[in-house]
Amino acid sequence: MSDIDDARRTLRETFGFTQFRGGQEQAITALLEGRPVLAVFPTGAGKSLCYQLPALLLDGLTVVVSPLIALMKDQVDFLVRRGVAAARLDSTLEPVEARRILDDLRADRLKLLYVAPERLASERFFQTLSKTKVALLAVDEAHCISEWGHNFRPEYLKLARLARRLGIARVLALTATATPDVASQVARAFGIADADVVITGFHRPNLELHANACAAEDRHALLLKSLKAGLAGPTIVYVTLQKTAEDLADFLAGQGFDAMAYHAGMNDERRHVVQDQFMACEAGIVVATIAFGMGIDKSNIRAVYHFNLPKSLENFAQEIGRAGRDGEPARCELFACAEDVLTLGNFTYGDTPTPEAIADLLKEILGLGPTFDISAYDLSQRHDIRQLVVQTLMTYLELEGILEATGPFYSDCKFRPLRSSGEILAQYDAPRAAFLRQVFRQARPGKIWFALDVSEVARNLEETRERISAALNHLEEKGDVELQLAGLRQGYRRTTGDPDLDELRERLVARFLDRERRDIARVHSVLEYAQAEGCLTGRLLAYFGETLVGDCGHCARCLGEPPIPLPPVPERALGSLEQEMVERVRSERHKALTSSRQLTRFLCGLVSPASSRSKLAKHPQFAALADVPFPRVLDFVKSVYN
Ligand code: ADP
Ligand code: MG
Repeated sequence: MSDIDDARRTLRETFGFTQFRGGQEQAITALLEGRPVLAVFPTGAGKSLCYQLPALLLDGLTVVVSPLIALMKDQVDFLVRRGVAAARLDSTLEPVEARRILDDLRADRLKLLYVAPERLASERFFQTLSKTKVALLAVDEAHCISEWGHNFRPEYLKLARLARRLGIARVLALTATATPDVASQVARAFGIADADVVITGFHRPNLELHANACAAEDRHALLLKSLKAGLAGPTIVYVTLQKTAEDLADFLAGQGFDAMAYHAGMNDERRHVVQDQFMACEAGIVVATIAFGMGIDKSNIRAVYHFNLPKSLENFAQEIGRAGRDGEPARCELFACAEDVLTLGNFTYGDTPTPEAIADLLKEILGLGPTFDISAYDLSQRHDIRQLVVQTLMTYLELEGILEATGPFYSDCKFRPLRSSGEILAQYDAPRAAFLRQVFRQARPGKIWFALDVSEVARNLEETRERISAALNHLEEKGDVELQLAGLRQGYRRTTGDPDLDELRERLVARFLDRERRDIARVHSVLEYAQAEGCLTGRLLAYFGETLVGDCGHCARCLGEPPIPLPPVPERALGSLEQEMVERVRSERHKALTSSRQLTRFLCGLVSPASSRSKLAKHPQFAALADVPFPRVLDFVKSVYN
């Protein structure tokens, strides 16, 4: 029997589906023939089946890398219900559970293992995997590996190298949103041939696209008008800020709509209530930040509104993709305001580290010796660079061939004995008992808990960190102690001698500025879409490299609504008043505001690790120039400095 016949039978017997959906067969066939594949299918099209099914037919383990813990959990439950040996390793697991899964893995009892990308960066996990027969590596949200993509994740950059190191040739990269550029970057990274890039197309003929440029103060009225005129049914209104979600939900409720807010700042319980109610509702509205939607599989969403500008067309496409999964008409309306452009732009500018901070951080890192470990949190605080940006910078250093990550570990360990030390030690032979006794002696006793700095103890005892951690884990597993771990650190090894510091800094600065430029360009693509002449559907598809033949016939433009240009926001003049203000803030000599970029962030209302530590967000001048574009404030601040 041929591979594809086997695949069809598994589709029926294990998954209970009668036929493949678009693209699935092509992707699965190529994988079964041993080639790497990139699958670009819209959300909900059935990407997961493309690795779940081969996983059952191939000899060996399928490793699925996914950044979304909630989705991993759903999928593992789905597979386990169908009798598939699937498991996940993520940060939410209890240590005992995680160890059980690792045991299953070592004993070849698993067919599918879902892991978070950070997990793959761990040296220990890498060792384990290198002893396992990995048949297939599936990389979900594969666009995250593209540094030029809209959602770059530093740890993804290392996945391709990892696949090579592990000798895994069969890779399935999956994404719902990739521009042609990003798709070709992903394909190149994993050695995927053009013929094995499977793109099903994004066109969703039932989505009715509307886009308005408007003044911020007109948005409420426009939204109300659309809600009243639109198709009644479950509706999502996306906003940027948590506060807007609350305010707008209140406003809509006041207007008689069944509206609730949803954002990451709410507690889990409340979030579940809102989500469950929405899943069950026939006409409710959720006003949400982008925290809402991943894993929402509700087929009859009748409208998705963007009250605030999304930061890219990739985000936009993903968010409107949740509407009308049942194939019935759904309205997708975007309100574009100039203020949002400013806010989104300033977030981006605020993230770019200063050249001084990069230089200081480099000096520190390169002075740490041949093997060392860091806490991204501490570095972030010390150098006033956001934590994610520190992680990006460390990844750049890996890609520059200067460092190699050896894996994350917890440095601060607390334990509480659940039996007497005599009882514990009595279970081991003499050398092990002696080792444990030494470790116990290093611990600092507290009222209930004993504290250990694992790195320090390793140095004192001339032992490896791993042996000490393994011993403590073992004690916990046996119920001898209760363990608490904190202080996540990342271990590294230097792989070259000393690079030219100035050149390196220049390259890194350029890389960050390039990122900044691309992020800003993405915001502008959304604006251009909102103000576009001609068919909006065609316009959106073109961004993703797809051609619509003819016009869609039912978007705002096809229905005869002309584009409205963005109302200009009057440029605020920066004069002597502002100059005095800058000078006054400077004269206060805040440690967190020594560089012009730091001061600019402060004036634009952007917090940084140092400014939030100094509680500068409460300063009367914080955000005083939040209505001015960051580059203008930066130039102004520089002119005052000189
Ligand atoms: P994606 O990852 O592309 O967003 P999923 O893999 O989560 O989509 O699949 C979405 C839904 O489609 C799931 O409920 C899945 O069970 C279902 N599905 C996938 N393939 C098929 C098929 N061939 N026939 C019927 N349903 C399918
Ligand atoms: Mg998916």
